[in-house]
Amino acid sequence: MLARPFVDLTNIQQFLAGFDQELGFQEYLRDPTQIPDAEALCKFAGQLCYLSFSSKRTWNHEISKYLRHIKESGHGSVLEHVSFSFLLYGISRSLTHELVRHRAGAAFSQVSQRFVDGSALRFVERPEFQTHPVLHLMFEERIDNAAKEYAKIATILYDRQLAGDPQMSGERKTDLRKKVNQAARACLPNETEAPIVVSLNVRALRHVLEMRAAVGAETEIRRAAYLMYECVKEIAPILFEDYEVEILGDGTKGLRTAYRKV
Ligand SMILES: Cc1cc2nc3c(=O)[nH]c(=O)nc-3n(C[C@H](O)[C@H](O)[C@H](O)COP(=O)(O)OP(=O)(O)OC[C@H]3O[C@@H](n4cnc5c(N)ncnc54)[C@H](O)[C@@H]3O)c2cc1C
Repeated sequence: MLARPFVDLTNIQQFLAGFDQELGFQEYLRDPTQIPDAEALCKFAGQLCYLSFSSKRTWNHEISKYLRHIKESGHGSVLEHVSFSFLLYGISRSLTHELVRHRAGAAFSQVSQRFVDGSALRFVERPEFQTHPVLHLMFEERIDNAAKEYAKIATILYDRQLAGDPQMSGERKTDLRKKVNQAARACLPNETEAPIVVSLNVRALRHVLEMRAAVGAETEIRRAAYLMYECVKEIAPILFEDYEVEILGDGTKGLRTAYRKV
């Protein structure tokens, strides 16, 4: 995890103090129960909608009930205020191709296979291959060959560039490099590592977990989704408390919830 919410509710003091004192809104900051930042932000955002700041409001000790109601009623927009960022590495280009299909509430920064050349190539071996001697050997041969082929293609293309081939021309140094790398990467397998920074607001993250940590999801992305869940449940346990962990037939872990797509 790269980033998580930091919330300072003392900053709302001036806002609350501006209302008629008889409403008792300043009580809000005297709630004796501490709750995690992520939950506190969602609760404040939700309670702002009805100006629920007096003593009759839902207090922090009822946060679980409050957030369950949000999830049950599908008012997930208040969950969009909280975001988490992750660096995913040791993951394949297959995984990132699936992950980047999630558009709403998601931000991605992925290694460029045009800018970055073959010197930093790494490959990801699937668990099914790791546990099988023949498949493991085939994987090793495949990635060795891919790396060699990449280097050979790049050498030929650089030579053509130096010889003034118009197909390989470019205005700036970066363009020239990209012309070579973008063609050379054609020989790389889906197993090529593709580090990515992903930021998701909680509403989007929950949807990703429900789609990708589910029984029907591909194994590699399911593992990544489950690991993201393990990180966020430490930081925001109540936002994710409805998830049940299930051990799937292949021994991997998946998630299930009664409140899908809030
Ligand atoms: C097991 C599995 C198998 C899959 N197989 C395939 C496949 O064979 N081929 C394939 O192409 N894809 C496949 N996908 C990808 C899938 O179709 C989605 O593109 C992906 O899961 C992103 O989810 P999402 O569409 O809910 O989008 P998200 O961006 O995560 O959006 C979340 C929600 O916001 C709303 N939303 C987002 N954008 C729009 C929009 N433009 N208009 C209206 N509403 C919007 C929708 O309600 C959406 O569910 C598969 C996904 C899974 C989990």
